[in-house]
Amino acid sequence: MSRLAIDGGEPVRPALLPYGRQAVLDEDIAEVVKCLRSDWLTTGPAVDALESALVPACGAKHVAVVSSGTAALHAAAHVAGLQPGDEAITPTLTFAATANCAAFCGATPVFCDVRPDTLLMDVESARERVNDHTRAILPVDYAGLLCDLTPVRELADAHGLTVIEDACHAIGARQEGAAADMRCFSFHPVKHIAMGEGGAVATNVPDVATALRRFRNHGITSDHRSRGERGAHFYEMVELGFNYRAPDILCALALSQLKRLDANLQRRREIADAYAKAFEGHPALQPPAYGAPGAHAWHLYVLRLNLERLTVDRDAVFRALRAEGIGVNVHYVPVHLHPFYRQCFGTGPGDCPVAEREYYRLLSLPMFHAMTDADVRDACDAVLKVVEAYAAD
Ligand SMILES: *Cc1c(COP(=O)(O)O)cnc(C)c1O
Repeated sequence: MSRLAIDGGEPVRPALLPYGRQAVLDEDIAEVVKCLRSDWLTTGPAVDALESALVPACGAKHVAVVSSGTAALHAAAHVAGLQPGDEAITPTLTFAATANCAAFCGATPVFCDVRPDTLLMDVESARERVNDHTRAILPVDYAGLLCDLTPVRELADAHGLTVIEDACHAIGARQEGAAADMRCFSFHPVKHIAMGEGGAVATNVPDVATALRRFRNHGITSDHRSRGERGAHFYEMVELGFNYRAPDILCALALSQLKRLDANLQRRREIADAYAKAFEGHPALQPPAYGAPGAHAWHLYVLRLNLERLTVDRDAVFRALRAEGIGVNVHYVPVHLHPFYRQCFGTGPGDCPVAEREYYRLLSLPMFHAMTDADVRDACDAVLKVVEAYAAD
């Protein structure tokens, strides 16, 4: 057995393989340059073009592009009517922004637990938290696996709740069944589409799309370009909105990236399959759930460690893998355990026992479409090397 790099042995890789990384090609750069030479750096035609091009991948008839995934969630929470006194239920195993969007509106985020098999929202746990103040429910497509919205929809319809899906991990994934009222996406470089910063909300309701676009533009009912085209100057601000507009420069980049989404998803599936094969049947490793065909976009590959089969904890495995040159990560600290939520909303340990327990076993392996087969082999070799060295027998 070879000595671990953390103990002075030879690392599997000399330079760190990141857990995620964008791929920007010359053709993307050419589109950005074209935009820079055009008349519109923001609120121009690239915004509309991106919105239309996103419709198939986002799984709804209308798409409003905004400046980040966080802005998308905030806009959705606002359009859902969240306000002080309201509650919004979200699974705790997510990025903080899923819950924060309710807090931005003055509403109270309420955390529910996740299922041990998929790490997705436990709908029974959500049901227990519904009361007269609940106005919205925010399922999360954790790691890229679509949450089954059929039971979520039933719960929402029984109590008049808006379903806001945090699909920031899951662009391009598909599954049969019920739909959310709004689906939110992120185009941060670590996600599938690298826009720099960017996001979108998808909806089937035209009025909802109009309300989302108004919110991203200060609550003003017409934009600069449409006034220019009509030769008019008058506009009205009808509510308090933000500047959540995405510039054309970045929309041009996202449009170009979007052309390669199918190949991107396909490559991620191949990488997931290679990992699953390498780790199959290993007593110390639990590979992630796959879901129905096409229902996983593989933003993350989250392995779970069977800690009773190891002599060390997850953090020691994490450090050993980093020393081997493998950029592992942990997604996520359960949001209800963050100091902000504990202090401002009184959450704490014991609220979501499954997420709290699973958190200590989670390890995200490198997963991005530009990974080579050699990168994947290195990650597999390093994981097997480390769990071998730390095996409890
Ligand atoms: C990335 C992410 C967000 C926020 O997106 P940004 O574009 O970084 O603002 C929200 N929710 C989840 C689950 C995410 O992964």
